[in-house]
Amino acid sequence: MPAGPQLICPLCRAVVVAGAEPAPGLCPGCGARYAGGGDDARGGVAAALEWWGVPGLDADAVSGGLFRILPDDPLGGVVTVTSDRRDGFYRWWVFVAADAEPASVLARAATYAG
Ligand SMILES: [Zn+2]
Repeated sequence: MPAGPQLICPLCRAVVVAGAEPAPGLCPGCGARYAGGGDDARGGVAAALEWWGVPGLDADAVSGGLFRILPDDPLGGVVTVTSDRRDGFYRWWVFVAADAEPASVLARAATYAG
């Protein structure tokens, strides 16, 4: 177990943060934007929506929708939520591919919620 939190990009598998507390930024491997840091997937989505200034989206619907995106879906590999690794409770982060707009893809993800 490495010392401190570790965050791996779910889109390209690059190590985004190792041994430090993650903060919103860009993946060094693929340029994906990421934000979040909540204690669960919904909290991570809520923090990311706030960070990116996306109004009018329900964090429950977005996080629920993100878990329903299949790999071969048009949104697969474009937007996803993941947890970091650390001792104790994980924190959750939303990744949006470099060529995608967070507000747009998160609104589409919300439509996947059951
Ligand atoms: Zn990446």
